[in-house]
Amino acid sequence: MSKRTLAQLEPTHLDGQRVVVRVDLNVPMSDGVVTDDTRIRASIPTIRYLHDKGARVVLLSHLGRPTGGPDPQYSLKPVARAMEKHLGFPVMWIADPTSPEAAAQVRHMPRGGVALAENTRFYPGEETNDPELAKSFAALGDMYVNDAFGSAHRSHSSTEAIAHLLKPAVVGFLMETELQFLGAAVDNPKRPFVAILGGAKISGKIDLVEALLPKVDHILIGGAMACTFFKAMGLETGNSLVELDRVEMAKDLIAKAGDRLVLPTGAVIAQKLEPGAGTREVARDQVPSGWSVFDIDSASVKVFADIIASAKTVIWNGPMGVFETPPFDQGTLGVAHALAAATKAGAVTIVGGGDSAAAVTAAKLDDQVTHVSTGGGASLEFLEGKPLPGVAALDNA
Ligand code: ADP
Ligand code: MG
Repeated sequence: MSKRTLAQLEPTHLDGQRVVVRVDLNVPMSDGVVTDDTRIRASIPTIRYLHDKGARVVLLSHLGRPTGGPDPQYSLKPVARAMEKHLGFPVMWIADPTSPEAAAQVRHMPRGGVALAENTRFYPGEETNDPELAKSFAALGDMYVNDAFGSAHRSHSSTEAIAHLLKPAVVGFLMETELQFLGAAVDNPKRPFVAILGGAKISGKIDLVEALLPKVDHILIGGAMACTFFKAMGLETGNSLVELDRVEMAKDLIAKAGDRLVLPTGAVIAQKLEPGAGTREVARDQVPSGWSVFDIDSASVKVFADIIASAKTVIWNGPMGVFETPPFDQGTLGVAHALAAATKAGAVTIVGGGDSAAAVTAAKLDDQVTHVSTGGGASLEFLEGKPLPGVAALDNA
């Protein structure tokens, strides 16, 4: 790790310090209730450590995509309550982190106290990386920890500009874990190194394919992405999700990748996307017009699983089918089980994509793979080899 980390700071120096911690508490909510607390749980180790060392901890996070100022629907207040359950002690609420009262509130916090501030995106300037807004966030602390891996690919006031104002500015525990696992996988993978890519759109992942191709031994493609490759092979794709403007590119990739690129040999198809819709498994050259590909077929799962079983490093980004709508979840589940088996056999397996991570967690296999990334977009950009502004702005080691 070329960046200075929280673990490297002398613990006694944290005592009494006001520490601004950017966390990623962008959790799914329904009617003011947190429906998946993965990101809350992931943020706890850094917070608990600072609490134990006597720091006064001020948490900053965004939630959702509010536009035009404060919107109760995107308030972080319910998250403070959810966080108290995990920490086992009260979390102070800062209603407006840009107000003079907030700075006074923090000055009066006890050693070991933890406070959560309202959604950073309620304040104009957050998303334009405004240094003035960063200044008012920075007024709440003596130093800065960035533990928000899921937001590290954004240059925002609370992730980038603030890191230049508070020193030290260091990497938190979750961020460190994410960077280590993802970094080791792409920079120094044990071979064979296999990448599995899927999801809806090839256009969103083309940089990833380009970045991984020179490094991997095999790249397995599923999801709707595969349909654009089928089209490039001249196959009938019916009503499947195909990106016509990417067909030429898919042709180039097929030529460039040779036998490193592995496409599904067949598909699960239906005429409509409905639970229990009449489905058929067909070879990839047997998709009738009027039908759509919604998953990879069982024969392809077997081919993919065999390749995964031979791997020493596996990266997975993007589901194999429309996993939200059974029975089109079988390909995704099959790959998830193959990752779990490979992990047991000693492979390093990493899941890095919002939807793929959700699928692995829903299948209760998240503790049977090496690492499930908490950062969908951030892990994508990191694996593409792009610098993460929220990391770049932190102190060098
Ligand atoms: P991730 O978040 O893991 O990176 P993406 O966001 O790229 O994954 O893609 C996930 C979406 O892709 C899911 O909503 C899933 O329904 C969709 N998808 C996968 N396969 C297909 C398919 N064959 N047709 C249409 N949508 C698909
Ligand atoms: Mg997604």
